[in-house]
Amino acid sequence: MSLYDKFSRLASEREQFCTSGINPFGTCIDDVYSATEGRIGNQKVILAGTNNYLGLTFNTQAIADGQMALATQGTGTTGSRMANGSYKSHIALEQEIADFFNRPTAIVFSTGYTANLGIISALAGHGSVVLLDADSHASIYDACTLGGAEIIRFRHNDAKDLERRMIRLGDRARDAIIIVEGIYSMLGDVAPLAEIVDIKRRLGGYLIVDEAHSFGVMGATGRGLAEEVGVEQDVDIIVGTFSKSLASIGGFAVGSKAMDVLHYASRPFIFTASPSPSCIASVRSSLKTIAEQPELRQKLWDNSHRLYGGLDKLGYKLGSHISPVVPVIIGHKEDGLRIWRELIELGVYVNLILPPAAPAGITLLRCSVNAAHSEEQIDAIIHAFATLKNNTQ
Ligand code: PMP
Repeated sequence: MSLYDKFSRLASEREQFCTSGINPFGTCIDDVYSATEGRIGNQKVILAGTNNYLGLTFNTQAIADGQMALATQGTGTTGSRMANGSYKSHIALEQEIADFFNRPTAIVFSTGYTANLGIISALAGHGSVVLLDADSHASIYDACTLGGAEIIRFRHNDAKDLERRMIRLGDRARDAIIIVEGIYSMLGDVAPLAEIVDIKRRLGGYLIVDEAHSFGVMGATGRGLAEEVGVEQDVDIIVGTFSKSLASIGGFAVGSKAMDVLHYASRPFIFTASPSPSCIASVRSSLKTIAEQPELRQKLWDNSHRLYGGLDKLGYKLGSHISPVVPVIIGHKEDGLRIWRELIELGVYVNLILPPAAPAGITLLRCSVNAAHSEEQIDAIIHAFATLKNNTQ
């Protein structure tokens, strides 16, 4: 009996897939040349499997600001903000995020994962009820477990199911916490936020929206789905990440003045090191870029429509929504692995998502576009999928 016996089935299943020398569960990107190009082994690839939605990972100003912070403030903070102190730039970024969202308070976390963990576990303790979309990100589930709240799952994007479960709660619905996401990371679909807000208005409760994939992507100014739908006033807390459209690492939450207390009461905020100065500097830079260059968002959506339209025309089964996440739904795991590998040989890198990571037990090739992709690159991705289709017919 070893410590790892419980993983033996998982380990052997993974090994079966790794016969080709390319490991889909630990892909090494040997070189990254730009926001859209890299190298895997000897193959130059178009990167179509990132969350770099606005293509800002190589933004000249963000790099210059990050380098300056690295040179002047060092490589890391080496501790938590409560114990070791905040750098001025952490506090400045919190003010800038709060201003961006027109909210009184923002809290910066070390990742998006700890942002969810920090907010939800602190607010939803023993005795609390949380109503979760069944396809919620693991960080949301883990946060509920950490806090000790009672979890009630409702069917993915099914507002009617949420309403039924709220009604069943009776008086407890008034204090329940509803959590949904803006864009869902696997299928690229969006929460029915107007209907959910309507339920909250009628039955009570609090609403948290995780805009990890929709921040910078949706809304007139990039504030996300709540801005796009016009219901920001009804959302109590918005959670987000720096690791997607902001092209760095870290996380945040914005909310009311009262939320400020979580700086002193949230364990995942208190007991981990704060983001390094270079991350904070590049995030501040990219936040400005998001505010000043709405054309990036337009380019992202143009690219999304181009890829979705092209793959749809080829007859691939896609998700129900057009968004920067374009999932190609494949029947069997084995087909998924083969196509994924062949795409790399054709110079296109996408994400292979196998159950249970993909919802409803499906296998999918998760393609994602960003604002830095050229039309030629999008067409090259479509062409690679067309080649595979022709080869298998
Ligand atoms: N929430 C959602 C919806 C996510 O998809 C992710 C990451 N994929 C996170 C939170 C966690 O963000 P991070 O990678 O910054 O920890």
